[in-house]
Order: sequence, then structure tokens, then C-alpha cells
Amino acid sequence: MDPALGPPEKMAEKRDELTPMMRQYHDLCARYDDALVLFQVGDFYEAFCGAAERTARLLEIALTSREDSTGEYPMAGIPIDNAESYIETLLEAGYRVAVADQVEEPGESPGVVERAVTRVITPGTLTEDELLASDDNNFVAALAGDPHSSGQTEDELALALLDVSTGDFLATSSSANETIADEVSRFDPSEAIVGPNAPTDLLPETCMVTPFDPNTFERERAEDTLSQYVRNPDALLASAVEISVCGALLAYAEYVRGGAHEGERGEDERSGGDDGDGANRGESADTSSEETRLEYITHLTRYDPREYLLLDAVALESLELFEPRAVQGREDATLVDVLDETACALGGRRLRDWIRRPLLEPRRIDARLDAVEELQSDVQTRESLHDDLRAVYDLERLIGRISRERANARDLRSLHDTLAVVPDVRENLADADCERLLDLHERLDPLADVRELIDGGIVSDPPIEITEGGIIADGYDEHLDELRSTARDGKQWIDDLEDRERERTGIDSLKVGYNSVHGYYIEVTNPNLESVPENYERRQTLKNSERFVTPELKEREDQIVGAEERADEHEYELFREIRRRIADEVERVQDLADALATLDALVSLADVAAQYDYCRPELLEHETGDDGSGLEIEIDGGRHPVVERTQESFVPNDAQLTPEQRLAIITGPNMSGKSTYMRQVAQIVLLAQVGSFVPATAARLTPVDRIFTRVGASDDIAGGRSTFMVEMDELATILEEADERSLVLLDEVGRGTSTADGLAIAQAITEHLHDDVGATTLFATHHHPLTELADDLESAFALHFEVERCDDDVVFHHDIAPGAATGSYGVAVATVAGVPDEVVERSRELVVDAAERDSGVSLEGGDGGERDDPTSAVASADGGESPVESRPSLGDEADADEVPADVADELRALDLAHLTPVEALTELDRLKRLLEE
Ligand code: ADP
Repeated sequence: MDPALGPPEKMAEKRDELTPMMRQYHDLCARYDDALVLFQVGDFYEAFCGAAERTARLLEIALTSREDSTGEYPMAGIPIDNAESYIETLLEAGYRVAVADQVEEPGESPGVVERAVTRVITPGTLTEDELLASDDNNFVAALAGDPHSSGQTEDELALALLDVSTGDFLATSSSANETIADEVSRFDPSEAIVGPNAPTDLLPETCMVTPFDPNTFERERAEDTLSQYVRNPDALLASAVEISVCGALLAYAEYVRGGAHEGERGEDERSGGDDGDGANRGESADTSSEETRLEYITHLTRYDPREYLLLDAVALESLELFEPRAVQGREDATLVDVLDETACALGGRRLRDWIRRPLLEPRRIDARLDAVEELQSDVQTRESLHDDLRAVYDLERLIGRISRERANARDLRSLHDTLAVVPDVRENLADADCERLLDLHERLDPLADVRELIDGGIVSDPPIEITEGGIIADGYDEHLDELRSTARDGKQWIDDLEDRERERTGIDSLKVGYNSVHGYYIEVTNPNLESVPENYERRQTLKNSERFVTPELKEREDQIVGAEERADEHEYELFREIRRRIADEVERVQDLADALATLDALVSLADVAAQYDYCRPELLEHETGDDGSGLEIEIDGGRHPVVERTQESFVPNDAQLTPEQRLAIITGPNMSGKSTYMRQVAQIVLLAQVGSFVPATAARLTPVDRIFTRVGASDDIAGGRSTFMVEMDELATILEEADERSLVLLDEVGRGTSTADGLAIAQAITEHLHDDVGATTLFATHHHPLTELADDLESAFALHFEVERCDDDVVFHHDIAPGAATGSYGVAVATVAGVPDEVVERSRELVVDAAERDSGVSLEGGDGGERDDPTSAVASADGGESPVESRPSLGDEADADEVPADVADELRALDLAHLTPVEALTELDRLKRLLEE
């Protein structure tokens, strides 16, 4: 635990002597000892002692001190009004923050103002809109193994996931650690609590592990907690461990909600002033489970990872579903970016969930595709729906706030405005043909009762504050109307007073005014003071005038102020009652949100399909039987959904993969389009299984169970593994876990080691994938000898990208064709990339020399070229007739005296098989400079 957390030592030593307020702080720190307690004092949240020093440093705010009869304490405070941004910094620094609010008005009861922790803010349990991405979920996870585990690897592990801001709640389990690790990658929780026998190494570094009461994972206790939320959890969940993680996670969500039920009193009724010292009223509010229950968590979805296309962390990253790969650094370079035309946050999150969990069953996929097709072809309905959906607020988070009693009147109006468009949305779907849209039409409950309640109760443009009146509509409540009319009448009487008094006194300059200290007054300038009537009482003397009141004016004023105060209080009560009544409808609001989310995601898919000319994929059932289980992937004119958006013109390519021809060995020069092609095949498959149209002219495919990727070389420097280790590790996973329903993409296998080793490994892997695994595989390789495997292995075939040489330039056609490529054109690509001419020329010389010296690799036939080894380039690109062949070379005795011996030695010592192109060019450049010296 951080030494700055927990009760400050200085206070702990003399707890009983502390002032009541400091004792309160001490006790809250003791109770929330794993969090940094922010303690409301008037308009500020304060931290004291070690926590103050830490906070001041982190937030770059002033460190002050507070002195009382028991000593001096360092203190640092942040203004409540913009606490969110400071809290965000604390979270980023790895803290959990317990917000202790004043939960009563100063002076409401004798003694120190009562404070309670109204929320514990942690990365995984945020509910503050300002701290959350609107179009993505933010999950907290609970992970546990079997408490009676014998430590065997096949013991069951369970995972529960909860988005506290929306109420999304899921659970799963598996006896394979990798499966749970993959599910963790899929949902990417920002925080986790762990129970017994949970291997925390399954959690990524970005996930904060929070220690939490292990007893909450105990079967009976967990079941008790869970049964408050879910009817019959035993029937829904598959095992005791699943119950354990779900129960513990809910207990954690209750814990972070804090102990004070009336959250907004702390948040909104920010009464100023230090409360001073007085008698401590004892413990902060108790956290009984009834009080902390999160009413808006109403659904638990138990799922089996095998119901969805499995994408592990490596595949998620290399297919750039959600995050662009750092190397490219382009914006807009993710699949979700190009696919997201959603109109509201609900749809944005739904679409992400679909991309995260593509489907497997053609029937379910087709249900989505039917809807997308119908919306795609009906432009008018689609556009009209899109417009409607733009007016939809984030209902899930709204109802969460309403239920947690944190919503203000504007939130209720936002709910109203959303409900107001529902009839129109329904109307747009009234003539739908497909089942999914008809079903949505049925489910779109406009919640007319709730809408009327808000419309009748809340003014159309209410203020943010909920305690200062002006939020309840006229005519909603008789008593409120009376109070308002009293206040209004009083004000009218005062408005008329000026005229009456001018007439009565004959003083034309007499004025009636108001100030916040003295209230209403009658002002008379000095020259007219003689005409002041007897019943005027002097209040204030100014330079040129005097201010007076009359007993009648005072009486009216009291009447107005009294009525207004009572009206404000009454409004607050009425508002809370309306909010409670809406909270009772939480499930109906959530059902509506669910339907709107799905509709928005479907409209977005249809929109993209129409805008970018996608086609509907045809999903094939897997053939049953022993030998019918391979994949069929047939794509005509396929395009890469992301690259085509950033490219001026994109060359479409076909793909034909069948159980009989399932392993494609793809060769071609660097930059010719191999990686793009492989990823485009995988992304088209994935999009189809999401239920999206695909960038192609036609596509037929059997759903894929799992996509594996081994793409590009990336060092896991932080993890301390070399490129080669990372590569072998990823390959081991593929070889172990892939089967005949997997799609495997391999790029650059065997690159991190010597040519001979690399070649051997790549060949062995290809054979294994072909003979034993049976996975559908796209294998891009720079090892040309591997293309021979295409002839040797029954279900393998070769594809290649050809490029054309034009003078000194290389033209990439990005056009895939059957058969193997002839070479890899490294030096030519260096020319195009702008490497200086001298360096390129010298490369050409060395290419030829090396080719001649290295008799082990035949360049002439184009089958031994190292893709990144410049040696392959000229020989193959020029078909062996390099224009530089007659140029001086190191191996040529006649010219040897032109090259100093040391440079020649260095050149001979160069291990070309282990140099990257850039390293080779840099080395050449250095040697050339040596020659020129
Ligand atoms: P390789 O894997 O063969 O080195 P890439 O797939 O990385 O080549 O492609 C290199 C670049 O070529 C891409 O960044 C893209 O800009 C362009 N490219 C690839 N395929 C196509 C295509 N089919 N049409 C147009 N441009 C393409």
C-alpha cells in the first residue's frame, strides 16, 4: 500500500485528541485505506498530511497547512467545481480516489457536519461522463479460479465483466487459461479484482489490479449478493466459480458506490464554510446492502467464448480493429473507425461489441445482414432513421445516473427528448420486411408515461442545480403553484410600490431597489429627505441619498423570501420523487436503449455499405462429416477496408481458398501488397461475421472460428523478449491451438534468425500447418525456395505480386496472380524511397559481388533472394543482366588496389543474412565515406 494512504500516522497516534473534523478524516482514511480520500471542506476537497504532500506534487497545486488545537497538518485542496480533471490525473497516477462529501447542511444538526464517502473513483468503475469515452465500454473485471484447486492447469477459471456506467454485465469461464486471457484482451478491462487461484499474469499491464475483500468471492456470500440482482443465478450460470466472480464483482461495485445513499446532496448541495469543531456524530453512513444496491444492474449475460469468432490480443492488434499499429502512426487507421457511422453513443458501443465478438452461426449473421440489406437499399428510411438517432442521448448512462440518484433536471429532459423521437423511429420501421427490423419495431417502447411525467413535471430548459428551484413546471403541483403565486404577488406589490410612494410623497426621484444584504429598500435623495413620511425607517446612509424601509415592505419581503425558500425545498422534493418514479422504470428504459443501440449499429453498417460500395457476403454452413470441415473463402474483387480509404486508387484482388486449396504461399517484392492482401482477406471474413457488408464485388464463406496472425516483426522490449522470441512464441500458440476452422496469417516467418534456420523453421511450420493442423493459411514469405512447397504439398498453392521495372523505377501493380514471384527488388525499392543515388549504385555493385561469391544462394533463378537483402534485387529484377555487372567489385583482383585493405576486410566480414536493408545501406554509406577519405 502507498504510504501516503490509510490514516496519517500523525493523526493515528492521537486519534482521540483530534478535533471532531480531523477525527472524521482519520476514520474515513482508515476505512478506505487503499484509496486517497478527498475530504469536502466547504467548496474544496482536501487531503491532509502525507496524502496532501503527494496530491500537491502530482496535481501541481499549493501545499498549505491547517492548524488547530491539536497540531499543524499539511493540507492540499482542489476546488470541487472542477474536481474531475484533477481526479483524472490521480487515476492516471494509479490511485483510487474516495470522495468524502458533506452529507448534511452545516448547522442542520449540532456538531460537526456529517461526511460520508459517496463514491470511490477507480479506473474500472467510472461513472463520470467527463472521464469516460462515450462510444466505448469501460469494464472492471473479476477473475477467480476454483478455490479448491489442486493447481492443475485444467482447473476452471471464471471471468466476470461489469461496466458500472451502463450496467452491462457478463460472465464466462473456461478450463483453458489462454481462453480466459483472450476474453480479457477482447474486453480490455481497465481494472480487475482477483479471487482465489487466479493467475494475475493473464491480465495485461494496462489493467489495474485492486485488492479486495477475498471473502466476497466465497460461494455463499457471492450467491447472496448476486441473487439481489439476478433471479435464479444457479440456473443461469454454469458453475460455482462463475457465481463467485459475479457476486464479488457486484460487491466491489457496491463498495465503490460508497456509503451515502443520497449522493447528490454531497455533489450538488455544495454548502460553503468550514464546519468548525464540535461533537463528532460518529461513524459515517453505514453501507447496508439495501442502501448500496445498484438498481440499474438488471441483466447478466452468461456467454461461452466458443459462440464467437476468437481473436486473441495478437490478432486484435495486428488486424488493427481498435488501435492503429504504432508503426503506421496514421489517423483513422482502424477497422472500427472506417465502420463507425453511428449516430449516438449507444450505437457506437454496440458496434464495438459486435466487432469485438463476431458471430459464428450463419443464421444469426444472416439476421443482421437481412436488416443491413434492407436499410442499405432504402435510402430514405435509412437517412431518416439516422437523423432520428442523432437526437438520442446515452440512455444507458442516463438511466444509470437516474438510478444512482445523480441525475439532474437536464438529464431528465435529455431522457424526455430521446423518448420524443421514438414514435418517429417506430414509424420509420413500421413497413419493415425483415424479422430483425420488425422485432426492433416491436421493442421500441416510447415510454409515453415517462415522457409525460417529465414533460408535465420539468420545465423545458432547467438549470443544472437541483436545489435552487426553477425546475418544476407550473401546474404540476398545487402547493408549489401557491408558493410561487405568493412570491409573485409579493413582487408585484413591490413593483407597484414605487409609483404609489412617488404619488404619496410627491418625490419624483424616489426609487425602490434591492440588495442582497439589506433586502428591499426605498431610496430618497438628500434634497428630498424633508418629504419622507413618518412610517419610513432609515436603513442605510449613502453619500447623496438615504435608504428606508417600511413595516409593510418588510412584511412583504419576508413573505416573498419565505415562499421562495419553501418553494425551492418543495421543488427539490418533487424533483426527487419524479426521478425515483423514473428509476422504477429502469428495465423498460434499458430495453429501449438496447433496441436503439442495435438499430443504430445496423443503420451505420448499412450506411457504410451504401457509401463505400460493399456487397452482401454469402455465409455457408460448415459441411458436416469427417472430411468436410475445412473453410471456403471465396472473394471477388476484395479491397482492404482501411487502406482503400487512405489510398487514391486501390487495386481489388480475389481470394480463393477451399479445403482442397487451403494454403497459399504468397511471394512478391517488398511493398507490393502482400500484407495488405492477407489482412484484407481476414478483415473481410471478420466483417462478414460481424454482420456487415464487405468491400468486395462478391464474397462467399464459411464462418471462421478463429483468426490467428503472425504479422511483422515487433520486439517486445518491455517484456524483455527479442523479435525472434516473440515470433516463436506466437507461432507456438498458432501451431498448438489452430484447427481446420482457423484462418492463419503468417508474414515474415523465420526472419529473426539466420537464413538457413529461418528457412528451415518456415518450411517445417508450413508442412505442419498443412499436414497436421489443416488450417486455412495465407503465408507471405521472402524465402523463395518455400514456393516449391506449393508443388509438393497437395493443398498448397502459390500466389505472387509482380512489379514492373520502368527505367530506374519500379511500378507496383498490387495485382495478385497465381504462381511464384521472381524476385524481391530490394535495391529498386530503395531508389523509389529516395535513398541517395551513390548509395544505391554502390548497393548494385555489392549485390553482384555477393551473388558471385555466395554460390550457396542462386540469385539468377530468383529463388534465393533475401527479401530484405539487397543482394537479391538487381539480379532478379534485371533477370541477371545487371547494368552494373562490369563495375569494379571486391572479388575482382584487377581492381583490388582501388579498395583499401581495411575497407575490403570490413566488407568481407559483413554478414548480409543478418542485416536489415536500412542497416545494410547505412553500413554501405559508412564504407563509401571511408573510401572517399
Ligand atoms: P508488402 O507486405 O508486400 O511489403 P504492403 O502490403 O505493406 O506490402 O503494401 C505496401 C503499400 O502498398 C501499402 O501501404 C499500400 O499503400 C499499397 N498497397 C498495397 N496493396 C494495394 C492495393 N491492392 N492497391 C493499392 N495500393 C496497395
